[in-house]
Amino acid sequence: MSEEQLEKYNAARRDHYRVMGNRNSQTFRARLRVELGDEEYKRRVTKTKMRWTALNHERSLELRRNSCNAAIAANKFPCAVCKISLQSRLALDKHLKSKAHAEQERLSKGGKPKKPSEAALTARSIVARNRELALHSCKVCDKSFNNRGHLKKHLKSKKHAKRELALLAAAAASS
Ligand SMILES: [Zn+2]
Ligand SMILES: [Zn+2]
Repeated sequence: MSEEQLEKYNAARRDHYRVMGNRNSQTFRARLRVELGDEEYKRRVTKTKMRWTALNHERSLELRRNSCNAAIAANKFPCAVCKISLQSRLALDKHLKSKAHAEQERLSKGGKPKKPSEAALTARSIVARNRELALHSCKVCDKSFNNRGHLKKHLKSKKHAKRELALLAAAAASS
């Protein structure tokens, strides 16, 4: 680029930003929305967000956690029956359909607390004993599970694989 071209380029750039504003500004987004139409604009925003999320996995998880916590703290999606607060509209909908919520609703209408069935009591005692004996435990993650199914699922999880890799790497480094 020659001196003159560069000057031209910079001038055009300045003009562009003067008119459009910063790419993250409200003005810029509002203009883009008008230019592209609602549907295309939304499609692009989603695409950008997805790309960003893929590149910033940890940060996006952190942001998500923060916004969940903020929603809970602000009591945005409360269940008055259970006196709890959920992190999103989706979580609240799911909760409202849950057995736990139905039970609270029944109790709040003067229903009597259910006695746990014989089968439930047996299952509970088995679970308690398994935990005590650490029958279904993962040595790598130092975690105990209620039953073999949960342990099996855990052993296939990304979390477990990650931990195992980290341990192997640490062992290799120290030997
Ligand atoms: Zn509820
Ligand atoms: Zn594990």
